[in-house]
Amino acid sequence: MGNAVAVLAQLQREVGFTHLLSHEETGAAWSYARDRQVAAWCNSARIQWQQFTQTGVIRGLRNRSGWARRWQARMDEPLHLLDGSFTAALPLDQPALPTLASLGLSPHGKTLQAAGERAARRTLRSFVQMRGYGYRKALSSPLSAEEGCSRLSPHLAFGTLSLRTVHQVTEVAIRDTPERDLAYALRGFAGRLRWHCHFMQKLEDEPGIEFCNFARVCDGLREDAFNNDYFEAWCAGRTGYPMVDACMRSLRVTGWLNFRMRAMLVSFASYHLWLHWRQTGLFLARQFLDYEPGIHWSQMQMQSGTTGINTLRMYSPTKQALDQDPQGLFIRRWVPELAKVPLPYLAEPWKMDPSVQHMAGCRMGVDYPLPIVDDKAAMAFAKGRMYELRKTPQARMEAADVQEKHGSRKSGLPPSGRRRKAKAPRAPEAASPQGDLFA
Ligand SMILES: Cc1cc2nc3c(=O)[nH]c(=O)nc-3n(C[C@H](O)[C@H](O)[C@H](O)COP(=O)(O)OP(=O)(O)OC[C@H]3O[C@@H](n4cnc5c(N)ncnc54)[C@H](O)[C@@H]3O)c2cc1C
Repeated sequence: MGNAVAVLAQLQREVGFTHLLSHEETGAAWSYARDRQVAAWCNSARIQWQQFTQTGVIRGLRNRSGWARRWQARMDEPLHLLDGSFTAALPLDQPALPTLASLGLSPHGKTLQAAGERAARRTLRSFVQMRGYGYRKALSSPLSAEEGCSRLSPHLAFGTLSLRTVHQVTEVAIRDTPERDLAYALRGFAGRLRWHCHFMQKLEDEPGIEFCNFARVCDGLREDAFNNDYFEAWCAGRTGYPMVDACMRSLRVTGWLNFRMRAMLVSFASYHLWLHWRQTGLFLARQFLDYEPGIHWSQMQMQSGTTGINTLRMYSPTKQALDQDPQGLFIRRWVPELAKVPLPYLAEPWKMDPSVQHMAGCRMGVDYPLPIVDDKAAMAFAKGRMYELRKTPQARMEAADVQEKHGSRKSGLPPSGRRRKAKAPRAPEAASPQGDLFA
C-alpha cells in the first residue's frame, strides 16, 4: 500500500526482480499518470514491464473497422487456469490488510454484494443456470433487475472474474441448454459483454472524454449554469421526485443500480437540473461499486446529450415511476417518508391536497420536499437547447467525426460505407440503449 513507484522500489531492493508483469488498464487520468511514473521508473531501474490484455480493448487502435472480430477472437482464446503451483518467490513481509480507519475513511454503512472470486463464480453460475431466464424482461425495473441482472459488474471492474471467463461460460450455456427461453435471454446478455469493451475502447482512444465533451460544440452548454443547491438535493435523494430520490438513496446504500435507472438519474441531473456531467459523474463514480472509467464517462456523456451522435433520451421521472414501479414497492422501500401515501399519488405526491397529506402523515415541503424544478418547464427548456444545438452545421460536422472515430460498425466497413436497410422496430430493451448499433 502506498505510492506505486515507492512500493515497487522497496520491493526491488528486497527481492531484486527484473520483470514486472501486469494487466493493461484503461483507466482514468490519475491511473494513467501513475502508469507513466511506473514506466519511467522501470526504465531507469532496467526492469522489463510487460502488460497483458484482460479485456477486448485494443491499445493503439487506428480505427474501429474489424473491431468486433478482434474482440471475438480475444474472448475465444483459451483460459489460463492456475495449476496450484503459483507461490511467492520469497516470503515477503505481509502486513495485515489496511482497515478503513488506517486509510482515513469512515465506516461506509453500505449493504454491498459479496466480494471475491468464489462469490463471483457463484454469481455467474446462478445467472447462467437460473436467474438469467427473465433477463430481458427484468432489465428495466429496479425491482426485478436486482435479481434478474447478472450483478457481475463489480467483479468485472475489480477483476475477481475475467470478461473472457464470463463470455466463455455464457457461450457454453447458450450452446448446451435445452431451454430456448434461457438461450434467448443469455444471447441478450452476451451482447452486453461486448458493449462493456465497446465503451471502454472510447476512453482508450480518447482519454480526454473524462473531462471534455465528445462533441466540442457542446462546450459552454452547461458550464456556467451549475446550481449547487440542485446538485446537493440530487446527491441526497431529496429532489421531490420520488423515483429519482428512491434510486439515489438505494444506490448510496447498495453501490449498484440497473442501467435504466442510472440513465434516468443522469438524465434528470443533466436535463431537468441542467447540471454539468463532470461533477455528477464524479459523485456517481464514488457510489458505484462497479466504477469502470471507460463505460462510466461514455455513458455519462451519452445520457447528457454531449456525444453528438446518440439519440437524445430524456426520461420523465413520473413516467418511469409508473412504468417501472407500478405498485410503488421500490419507492416505499427507499423513501420511507412516502410509505403511507396512497398509490395514485405516489409518483406525484405534490398533488395530494392537505387532507390526503394529513392522512398519509406526510406534509409536502416539510416531511418530503416539493419538486425542486417543474418537470414540464425543465424538459421544454432542455429540449429547446439541445435540438437547437443539434441543428447547427458545426454539430452535424462534429457528429460525423465522432461517429467515424467511436461509432460501432455494423460490418467491417466504416459507417459512411454502409448501406442502411429498413429494420423492423425492436423491443425497447432488445435494442441498443446506446442508440448506436453494436455488431
Ligand atoms: C450513467 C451510467 C454510468 C454507468 N457506469 C458504469 C460503470 O461505471 N461500470 C459498469 O460496469 N457499468 C456502468 N454502466 C452500465 C450499466 O448500468 C451496468 O453495467 C449494469 O447496470 C451493471 O449491472 P449488471 O452487471 O447486473 O449488468 P448486466 O445487465 O447483467 O450486464 C452484464 C455486463 O455487461 C456490461 N454492460 C451492461 N450494460 C452495459 C452498458 N449499457 N454499457 C456498457 N457495458 C454494459 C457490464 O459489464 C455488465 O456487468 C453505466 C450506465 C450508465 C447509464
